This record gives sequence, C-alpha cells and structure tokens, in this order.
Amino acid sequence: MNTGRKGILIVVSGFSGSGKGTIMKRLLEEYPNRYALSISATTRAPRKGEEHGREYFFVSTEEFETMIEREDLIEYARYVNNYYGTPRSYVEQMLAEGRDVILEIEIQGALKVKKQYPDTLLLFVAPPSAQELKERLVGRGTEDEATIASRLSRAVEESRGIENYDYFVINDDLDICVAQVHGIIEGEHYRVSRNTRRINEMRQELYGFVKERP
Ligand code: ADP
Ligand code: 5GP
Repeated sequence: MNTGRKGILIVVSGFSGSGKGTIMKRLLEEYPNRYALSISATTRAPRKGEEHGREYFFVSTEEFETMIEREDLIEYARYVNNYYGTPRSYVEQMLAEGRDVILEIEIQGALKVKKQYPDTLLLFVAPPSAQELKERLVGRGTEDEATIASRLSRAVEESRGIENYDYFVINDDLDICVAQVHGIIEGEHYRVSRNTRRINEMRQELYGFVKERP
C-alpha cells in the first residue's frame, strides 16, 4: 500500500522481556498492511515456535560474517554471545515505497541506524518495573537461568542509554501500549520537518494568486 506520504524509519528497542515482540505482533495484526517489519538475521538458535524467515533469518556465524563483508547489513551488533543484524535491501525497498518500516533492535544498532538515517524515530519500550521484567523473562520460559542473568545485566547497560531515544513507552496494559506506539508513529507524520515537500507545494500554489513573487 502506497499512502502517498513519506515512510518513516522507526526503531523500537527495549530490555529483553519488556514485550517488544508481543507489541510488534499485535501492531501488525491490528493495522494490517500499515507497517513493514524488518526481519533480522541472527546466529542465535531458534526458540520453540520460531520460524526461519518469520521471526528471524537464522544463520551460521560464517554466513553472518559473509553478510557483514558484503555490506548486506545496515547495522549489526553482538548481544549476549550472538550476532544480530538488519538486512539492508528490504528496509530500503520498503522506505522507497513510502511504507513505515519498523526495526526491533537493541540500542547499539539503534544508534548506528540513527547515524545513517538521521530522520529515524527512536522508541524505547519498558516494563512497568524491573521486577515485572524479571518475571516476564522467567515466565516466557525460553532461556536458561544463566542466559536470563546475562540479559538482565545487559538491561542495566541499556538503561543508561534511554536518553538517546525520542519516546519512552511503558508496556503495562498491552492494548494501551500498542495504541500508544501506533499513535506516536501517526503523530510523527505531521511533524513540519517531515512535510517540507507539501509545504513548498502549498506555498508555490499560493504564489499563483499574487502578481509578483513575494
Ligand atoms: P521481548 O520481545 O521484548 O523480549 P516478549 O514479547 O517476548 O519480549 O515478551 C516477554 C514475555 O512477556 C512474554 O511471555 C509475553 O507474553 C509477556 N508480555 C508481553 N507484554 C506483556 C504485558 N503487557 N503484560 C504481561 N505480559 C506481557
Ligand atoms: P532476542 O534474542 O530476544 O530475539 O533478541 C535479543 C536482542 O537483540 C533484542 O534486544 C532485540 O531487539 C535485538 N535485535 C534483534 N534483531 C536485531 C538486529 O538486527 N540488530 C540489532 N542490533 N539488534 C537486534
């Protein structure tokens, strides 16, 4: 769907277990054809229920390093012993079509994307409390105790970088959070700096009403 408006590149980050994946799934269900969600490549093993090409492109370390060499990735980072990276071609194609493209990536990658695409909207999702974060991570049941501990210690580091983001959203009630994320992105489309072409067209049209160009 090409809406005629310019697509926005959106990065959603948040501590592991804060609910990013759940929010993204709901966002895509509630607003079908509205968002293009980038699928990352990773060297981590698939969790139960995850499919190659749906949640991630699951690749070997060797394959990942080839992607780095070929510059097939917009950015990549290491996160708790694995590589994660954003394939370039899909993102650039979707943006060219005017779609809003969402990258669900961690903070180092987010900052690299912002450098390359300064118009990127950076959104940080957090749980209502640190205790709730731990409970969600444990409750998800997809990682062993040591990995959960590594992910929580990574959360401590990530918490120091939140001020680099544009928006901070709490994922307490999922419905509310999904509506907030969608609302923020919608609102962003009306920012003056994202509408310079239309503003200039309007100005040119107005000039047509006066004899001499002001
Ligand atoms: P992330 O992708 O950020 O690592 P997930 O989407 O996998 O997080 O969510 C972590 C766990 O928390 C999952 O078991 C999920 O079902 C649960 N969860 C997500 N959002 C909420 C919420 N608003 N309230 C309660 N539990 C939630
Ligand atoms: P998980 O293993 O829980 O799916 O993801 C671990 C972390 O990696 C999350 O913070 C997730 O946002 C991040 N991540 C996923 N894909 C990418 C990516 O392509 N690049 C970067 N930098 N981080 C990613």
